[in-house]
Amino acid sequence: MARLVNEDGCGPEAGSSMHREKGRTEARWGPQHAGARELANLYSPGKRCQEWISVILCFSLMAFNLLHLIANFHLGHVWFILLAVAAGILTADFASGLVHWGADSWGSVELPIFGKAFIRPFREHHIDPTGITRHDFIETNGDNCMLTIFPLASMAISFLTLSPAEVYHNYPWYCYVFAIAIFVTLTNQIHKWSHTYFGLPGWVVFLQDCHIILPRKHHRIHHVSPHETYFCITTGWLNYPLERLGFWRYLEDLIQSAMGVKPRTDDLKWAHKVN
Ligand SMILES: [Zn+2]
Ligand SMILES: [Zn+2]
Repeated sequence: MARLVNEDGCGPEAGSSMHREKGRTEARWGPQHAGARELANLYSPGKRCQEWISVILCFSLMAFNLLHLIANFHLGHVWFILLAVAAGILTADFASGLVHWGADSWGSVELPIFGKAFIRPFREHHIDPTGITRHDFIETNGDNCMLTIFPLASMAISFLTLSPAEVYHNYPWYCYVFAIAIFVTLTNQIHKWSHTYFGLPGWVVFLQDCHIILPRKHHRIHHVSPHETYFCITTGWLNYPLERLGFWRYLEDLIQSAMGVKPRTDDLKWAHKVN
């Protein structure tokens, strides 16, 4: 497999030594940033175990449901499948934006259990954006796999317990849920590819160039500090319309006036960490 190379145009090892050089003289975004180092050290064996279990369960359920969807396919379902995939992609893109916005803007790494497990990767990603390119498959996809276990399990139970007539009746809904599950599961892999500048398979670059998955140039807009827009990271299709509507700012104003808390205070705290 081709070696993955990050946004700096260097491989992981070269990137690290380059950042070490920079780190001697000034605090920079990257693996040598004091906050990034501290956040990377919070990745625990328990968290790793949760990710492994999530990946195994999620992909087993996905294979099980795919086999049942194929077994129950009828020609009359073709249009439903196309509609379901389109709606599933849009729903997954919006969900990616909502979760990303929520984790970037609110909460803190100090929150018990949840903070270290689920807020930490978002903080780390802003101060070390290419860190994700050094994460393996399990660390990249574990959390998203965990999110889709419940809907996939509930679909699997339906296939095991419902009559063929009931499955036929529910088939369009299953296609929609399955499309969401696939795209939500793949969101962080797609996000990782959007930070990888060399060594990507040709078909991934093709999908990025056609804007079927999140393009690299498009995602750079989110990485301009203070990271307050373009939160959708599955396809990014909803980023422009949501920005035009002022959707995220509206939500932030609503929460700020209701609860008196300012968005991104924890994110800024980690960004300014110097030792
Ligand atoms: Zn972000
Ligand atoms: Zn990113």
